[in-house]
Amino acid sequence: MSSGRNLAYTPIDNSAVQISRDVASGKRKAAEVLADHFARIDANEADVHAFNLVMRSEAQAAAAAVDAAVAAGRRVGPLAGVPIALKDNMCTRGIDTTCSSKILEGWKPPYDATVVTRLAAAGALIVGKCNLDEFAMGSSTENSAFGPSHNPHDLSKVPGGSSGGSAAAVAAGFAAVSLGSDTGGSIRQPASLCGLIGLKPTYGLVSRYGLIAFASSLDQIGPFAHCVEDAALLLETIAGHDPADSTSLNQPAGPYVPAVADGLANGLAGLRVGIVTELTGEGISPDVLARVEVAASRLRGAGASVGTVSVPSTKLGLSAYYLIAPAECSSNLSRYDGVRYGLRVKGDKAANVEEMMALSRASGFGPEVKRRIMLGTYALSAGYYDAYYGQAQKVRTLIIRDFARAYKDFDLLLTPTSPTTAFAFGDKTNDPMTMYLNDVCTIPSNLSGDPAISVPCGVGDDGMPIGVQLLGPALSEALLFKTAAVIEKGN
Ligand code: GLN
Repeated sequence: MSSGRNLAYTPIDNSAVQISRDVASGKRKAAEVLADHFARIDANEADVHAFNLVMRSEAQAAAAAVDAAVAAGRRVGPLAGVPIALKDNMCTRGIDTTCSSKILEGWKPPYDATVVTRLAAAGALIVGKCNLDEFAMGSSTENSAFGPSHNPHDLSKVPGGSSGGSAAAVAAGFAAVSLGSDTGGSIRQPASLCGLIGLKPTYGLVSRYGLIAFASSLDQIGPFAHCVEDAALLLETIAGHDPADSTSLNQPAGPYVPAVADGLANGLAGLRVGIVTELTGEGISPDVLARVEVAASRLRGAGASVGTVSVPSTKLGLSAYYLIAPAECSSNLSRYDGVRYGLRVKGDKAANVEEMMALSRASGFGPEVKRRIMLGTYALSAGYYDAYYGQAQKVRTLIIRDFARAYKDFDLLLTPTSPTTAFAFGDKTNDPMTMYLNDVCTIPSNLSGDPAISVPCGVGDDGMPIGVQLLGPALSEALLFKTAAVIEKGN
């Protein structure tokens, strides 16, 4: 049973949609909305540790600008006055961006990530940079160099990861919404563990410009929110082509908000949903499986037909991911050499540049990051490349094909998000494999590039939140929101 204190916040008039409406109409001031959120930060952040950095004065200046615009009768953006938190792997110009790693100590990016620019233009108030597993590698935030974040629903439990701070910030009412990044499940798993909506968009839908790379072919930025409509609004604001990201899709994105009302008003008649058999068996806790059944019955209640579907290669996703992601990370993280960014070990020990680089990396990276760099370097090395990296890429192709086949018969797929509810600190830190197994249901859609959403659907035997996952083909975000809204309504 739950043993830690519960600091979870339930918004009533504080959904992002409601805040932006109230602020734009002059009913509430952005400064008041912000003060309300800062009151909760001041009261509870010491216990939750959602943030690496709270940006109080910057957020206050942004709120004042929104209030001045409203007072002057100028048009304000779709997120006017909405407090938002960012995972601390998104670049903010002149403001520390740490990836929760010591190696970036003191580094201040010279530019803003595209998502940051878009949020500012939309009138959002950035309240802080959130804690994460170092360089987004992990499932609990226990790999942060600055100590873990705590699950607001039970402070003795992890919030999930790697975007655990972003999830905790929203669940604790420190921000109305937040952004995380998802390489193998890092938005959806913490969303599930903290009772939130979390969406990983189609690869290329949201610009990665200014997102510090972990595994570039898998990374995507996406929203955390208390409700589906807020997630849709936030995605609408950040999605869309960006010439600064060469992998950005060059086509229109959204709208997504109307899909929510559509699902609630018109139901899901004709929608075909398949429960993935390979991801609803062994290794998934019975209370989680029970909630997948509940979600299925809600979908049936709205007129959808729900069957089962086999997507055999999803079982291989985990093994392929833990070769491809480390391979890409070993290459991406080679830039942290003590010369160009952050930490540099100097002094008597470093007799030459090579030693300086080795010592800087040895003291700047934590154990999980080092493990991934070693795994990745090994998988890419001559003689092993074909057996490991090459083979993993073949599995990736199989997964893409298997999904395409499943989407001939089904519009969307349904699975658990995480095999269990939130676990206690230290439960899985001794054995990396048990930590990696957390990602079994979320990884396949990173490998295929398709979108997926985690929707809260009740609680487990321990009273902790459980999310279910809807998967869809590329660019099916509107349909995912529409369908998620039906599951949400039953809560
Ligand atoms: N937990 C996974 C990992 O450790 C996923 C991380 C992520 O999505 N950033 O790699």
